[in-house]
Amino acid sequence: MIIAIDGPAGSGKTTTARLLAKRMGIFYLDTGATYRALTYAALEKGVDSDNDSALAELAKGLPLKMDSDKVMLGALDITDEIRAPRIDKNISKIVAHAKVRSVMVELQRELSKGRDCVVEGRDITSVVFPEAEYKFYLDAEPKMRAQRRFNELQQKKIYMDFKEVEGDLKNRDTADQTRKTGPLLICKDAVVIDTSKLSIEQTAMAIEKYIDLPGSR
Ligand code: C5P
Repeated sequence: MIIAIDGPAGSGKTTTARLLAKRMGIFYLDTGATYRALTYAALEKGVDSDNDSALAELAKGLPLKMDSDKVMLGALDITDEIRAPRIDKNISKIVAHAKVRSVMVELQRELSKGRDCVVEGRDITSVVFPEAEYKFYLDAEPKMRAQRRFNELQQKKIYMDFKEVEGDLKNRDTADQTRKTGPLLICKDAVVIDTSKLSIEQTAMAIEKYIDLPGSR
């Protein structure tokens, strides 16, 4: 069973998907983290963000290991580094390349293979798992999404101006919605949930209402 969740940054996808997977005892895949890990590797190795072939090669050899808590690149724990503002600022160009996305989509399918899982990102319901049993699109008002990202950064002791966080988020939204390959869109068969006024617990419950668990009815 695949539960596919898409939505823009700050819509609550990551925390909700993680909670859902934990409650259901199934695998959780944060595809944003896979793109963040690639961006981290590209920045560390100094690969040009316009060089799609070099980036696709880098993606093919990415020694990525993930579980619900940790993202590892080989023996290096990059869980925190991939959430840094420098990744937010550089990721959009890298993930827009069709060659890069096709490698990453395969990697994401491989990571989920043979498992029941909650998978979240931007193109999960449309490209990665269009046949998913359950599809959701989470959204929230832009100010609220920026506030969530701002709070997340503060918790990590990264102090940025709210306007800058809001601006970065807006730029990422536009890039995600307008790229040619795998853009963020609302699939016709996805359930849309506005999380602006919902807590993570309420969002998870709103999703669970739609999911048929063995013995739940
Ligand atoms: O979900 P998160 O905000 O961590 O994702 C980081 C970036 O990775 C997004 O801004 C988006 O550009 C990219 N992404 C993507 N496709 C996905 C997941 C994330 O392009 N399936």
